[in-house]
Amino acid sequence: MKTLFKNARVVLENRIEEDYSLLIENDHILAYGPNTFFIDNYDLIIDVKNQFISPGFIDLHVHGGGGADFMDHNNEKFKIITQAHAKHGMTACLATTLSSLNEEVFELLEKCPKEDENLEGARILGVHLEGPYFSMEQRGAQDPMYIKTPQVEEVNEFLKYKHQIKRWSMAVELENMDKIIPIIKQNNILVSLAHTSATAQEVIKSEDWGVSLATHFYSGMGSIYRIKGLRAAGAVEGVYLSKSMIAEIIADGKHLPKELIQMIYKFLGAKRVILTTDAMRAAGTDHMESILGSLEKGQRVIIKDWVAKLPDETSLAGSIATMDRLLKTVLDAGISMVDGVNSISLLPAKLIHVDDRYGKIEPNYKADFVIFDDDINIISTYINGKCVYHNA
Ligand SMILES: [Zn+2]
Repeated sequence: MKTLFKNARVVLENRIEEDYSLLIENDHILAYGPNTFFIDNYDLIIDVKNQFISPGFIDLHVHGGGGADFMDHNNEKFKIITQAHAKHGMTACLATTLSSLNEEVFELLEKCPKEDENLEGARILGVHLEGPYFSMEQRGAQDPMYIKTPQVEEVNEFLKYKHQIKRWSMAVELENMDKIIPIIKQNNILVSLAHTSATAQEVIKSEDWGVSLATHFYSGMGSIYRIKGLRAAGAVEGVYLSKSMIAEIIADGKHLPKELIQMIYKFLGAKRVILTTDAMRAAGTDHMESILGSLEKGQRVIIKDWVAKLPDETSLAGSIATMDRLLKTVLDAGISMVDGVNSISLLPAKLIHVDDRYGKIEPNYKADFVIFDDDINIISTYINGKCVYHNA
């Protein structure tokens, strides 16, 4: 079955083309080009009415949405989460854990659907382990009960699931990390700096061991601080000074204000920034209250000002961002559409080595794409060539 999407503004890797058409066949992209290249002789023709078509949005760090969390570990919940986010343009993600009992993490690793299994919502490309090797003082909303000192033997236990683990976030200054990080890297897993008390120098050193990403940059890490009155550079500065580390940002305009988003893009350049929701279960709902983490043992939070906060509003306690809002926020900060779209599609795909089939509008790529208007209101989301969401 061939479907033609005509009259679109198509967002390509390095430009936007107007009055273009996209032709897909079943689950993959066949061609794109000027409207005039295509004769109207296909099974289905959809007039996109001059809206944008971009590659589907890929989130390497999402905990939940639609009222469910990946740590609830069941297929019904996985569907709820991935469908809730597909409405906001997400076509693929990494199911993300929290520091918790190892058995609970293993359960998610065992039950997590494969890439082509769960196609009514965003695909699950694997699991992102967020924890348990974190700095106690930078733990944020991670449960201190489960944060621990890294041990090679335990890492090897996790690595029994190496085919499901695509990313692992950890504090790089902890003991044994010089041995542990290279072992994880050898297993083709993306290692990311997170919830860390590392100094700038420790971050720079960790790049040589294989750390290539900073998890929710600025959150859960230190910036300029003082030792006996003298200024010292922290993890944030280490990322800025690293050779090529990429910053993952929660670009919801709350975790990071517009000025910091502008500074990050300006200093690192658009090829070193990716966007994430880091969303908890209340994302994509109108809930005023929610639970961060597991339903039984998690933390009660309130939803206000587009974020989750502790009930006394003293601290942020999680994100309820959706992909469409991240893109809108970076565009409002002056980032171009091409750069914004790359940081939410192609660059995350590259980091986990799936950019041979996802992250671009390109012949032979999977037909995972999004149609949206100038205000980034999602009109339709397509996964595997099938419309999984349409805002009529
Ligand atoms: Zn997270």
